[in-house]
Amino acid sequence: MDVYGLVGNPVGHSLSPPMHEAAYDALGIDARYVTFEPDADAGAAAIEAASTLGVAGVNVTVPFKRDVLAAVEPADLAAAVGAVNTVDCSTDPPRGYNTDVVGVRRAFDYHGVAREGADAVVVGAGGAGRAAAFALAEGAASLHVANRTAERAEELAAAVREAPADPTADIGTVTAGGLDSLAGRVPDADLLVNATTVGMETDETPVPAGLLHADLAVLDAVYAPLETRLLRDARAAGATTVDGAWMLLFQGVEAFERWTGADAPVDAMNDALRAALE
Ligand code: NAP
Repeated sequence: MDVYGLVGNPVGHSLSPPMHEAAYDALGIDARYVTFEPDADAGAAAIEAASTLGVAGVNVTVPFKRDVLAAVEPADLAAAVGAVNTVDCSTDPPRGYNTDVVGVRRAFDYHGVAREGADAVVVGAGGAGRAAAFALAEGAASLHVANRTAERAEELAAAVREAPADPTADIGTVTAGGLDSLAGRVPDADLLVNATTVGMETDETPVPAGLLHADLAVLDAVYAPLETRLLRDARAAGATTVDGAWMLLFQGVEAFERWTGADAPVDAMNDALRAALE
């Protein structure tokens, strides 16, 4: 039996075990997915321990996504983003990937939303904002990062410009600003990602409803609740909406495929994820 797992602190609320175990069941894979909760300073040590103990692969979540870089050989994307959320422990050294970036891309792709040539706006410059910005810069005509703390948006935009996820890819214009810059960007945008925590605790949105329009596709990284105020406003404006569970699903799908080499049973994983979210 293969063992996979999640390294985070806390991990009690995690939706990854039911999602991955649904995939093993659907494909008849003899494996289990468990959670590991090391101390806050022990992320890299946890990766070394998992490899020593024969764990096949782990996902990595808050607060360890940057720390585990010290314990892995990062793939290009993970090195560019500066964060790892998936580790293949079967290699020596373990290989680190960032499947959050791919999760954003595949969430849009699954809904038939074109990323190539798009004008994209990412709201937020934390972990999810970094993943979304690196995901959308490639092939986009333009990317604008807006964040409450404008300096963090500037830093992220500079990182994307200086070290894009794929150095050979076309990177359009990359700009940054505070949340007040949304008014000048969202009305002409094709893609919008909310990567802030706004909408989780309270029924608020970081993007004024009046800026949303029917030619926009909106991904909200927030998945609890699934139906955020931003997505309700976007739907009312006629926009295409993609909830945060799709991003969560596709980072897991990508991790599963990296680990097993098999095509992930996307529907089974999605059903299990949405059942767990309920
Ligand atoms: P994080 O690193 O802590 O970043 C938080 C972001 O939210 C920062 O940009 C912060 O701005 C902004 N923010 C916080 N409070 C705000 C407020 N009142 N008004 C405006 N902006 C505010 O968090 P994270 O890990 O990126 O997570 C962000 C969200 O994405 C969470 O809801 C998380 O659950 C979700 N997420 C989803 C997935 C998925 O797969 N669907 C994956 C990862 C994360 P400042 O820089 O100004 O503080």
